[in-house]
Parts: sequence; C-alpha cells; structure tokens
Amino acid sequence: MITAKEWYDPKPDFKNLYQGDVLAAIPFPSLPTFVSAEREEVWGILRPRPNRAQRPIGEVLRNLPNELIGRAAKDVPDAWSSGDEYIISTCRKMHVILVSRSCDIDKHQRKHLLIAPVFQVSNLQEAQRAADKLNYLRNNDIFHWFYLPPVIGSFPESFADLTQMVPLHRSFFNEEVLQKTLCVRLSSQGTFAFQKSLSDYYGMAFGFAAADQCPQTARYSCSSCFSSGKATITSRVVDEGRNFGTCDACGDRTLWLKVPE
Ligand SMILES: [Zn+2]
Repeated sequence: MITAKEWYDPKPDFKNLYQGDVLAAIPFPSLPTFVSAEREEVWGILRPRPNRAQRPIGEVLRNLPNELIGRAAKDVPDAWSSGDEYIISTCRKMHVILVSRSCDIDKHQRKHLLIAPVFQVSNLQEAQRAADKLNYLRNNDIFHWFYLPPVIGSFPESFADLTQMVPLHRSFFNEEVLQKTLCVRLSSQGTFAFQKSLSDYYGMAFGFAAADQCPQTARYSCSSCFSSGKATITSRVVDEGRNFGTCDACGDRTLWLKVPE
C-alpha cells in the first residue's frame, strides 16, 4: 500500500512551486454550468443592467460590471455576438494539484498552469467506497485518478481527478500562496508515479476502443499491451465495418493501432 512516507517530500521548501504540489483553497472553475451544453438555449447569460449598457458592449465587458442580470440564452437575441459573454457558472475554493511540469512552472512567460481538483476519499459516494474499488485506488490502479495517501493529523486521504484538469492564470500561484496553502509536496518517487499516471492517462487517448467500428481492413495491434509492458502484444486482422472488440489481456483498456504494412 502506498504511504505518505514514500509519496511526499518530508521537508518542502516554500520558495518554488513544483509539479504535484497540493494546494488548499484555490478557486476552481466548473464549466459547463449546471445546465448541460446541449441545452444551451437555457444557459444563464449575464448582461449589464440596461441603464449601464449605453456604452458599446465591448467597452462594458473590459471592466467587470458589478450589476448584472441573468436571462436564458433564448431570451437574449444577440447572445454570443460580441465574442466574450458573461455566463452563470460555478467556482469553488478547493484543494488542487499542480499538473504542469516543474520546468513550465518556472517559465514566467507561461501564463497558465494546469491544475486538477483533489477530492477526499471520505466524500466519495458509498458505491465508490466499496472495498475492491478502494484497493484499486490505494494501489494507484485507477488510471484517471491519482492517489494521495493521508498524512495523519494534517492531510486526509484524497485523490486527484485527472479528467477535470483546467488551466488557471499563474497569478493565482506565488510564494505567499504557497506558504499559506501547501498541503503536501510529492517526493521524487511520488513525482515519478504522478508523471506515469499522466502518461497513462494521455496514452489512453491513442487508438481505437473495443466498441469502435473498423474503418479499414488491416492488421491491428493492442497499444495497451505495449504501454503496460506485456511480453506478448496482441495483434489481429480486423475487417472493415466490424467492431474491434477487446484484447484478452487488456479488457476495457484495449486500444487498437494499425500496424504499418
Ligand atoms: Zn492488449
């Protein structure tokens, strides 16, 4: 089982931010709003109050107006016409993990840093806290989550959700924020594991999934066999129009790549 001792730096300095730093109380924006994207006509569009909107809309939008009224997009005939639009969305101050690589964090010309939200295991719904699922999580075997073991008395057992990574302007992060909000910093072993998780997560995007229809008759190999280091890589000919199906060794992680002729 993964422990805080191996996963975290016991004596983090508070001078520099590093990939894998877990920080508290960082504003985390959520899009789309609580109304889903396919119902865009009822999204809450915010416009300055009419008596404040005598100036051109572009000018008004440069300075955040403090009196806004919200209407459903279908009732705002010129919605989205001015480029930027204020909409109703949510933002919560919460724990996040820095995903950007340390070398990018050091480059001040990079205006945005990538973060992922961090959730407490104790807040998971009961079905997700079943013993077998917790075992997967505690072994860091859930490919889209990154496990963060507890530090007794200071940091609860948590995980970062890699599916919800977002960019945040770098001005949200400085030495003062670091001193006030750093919860844990990954050790070199933890950082290596984090980079592997990110690589696995992005790696999953390559290839045809089991349910996909084959676009061209050819020989295909399972890229998951390759990336997970299996001795034998599953390979088969798939006919055009057929579903790819799963690789016996990889199950629902299967991803097929066409073998060059
Ligand atoms: Zn495979």
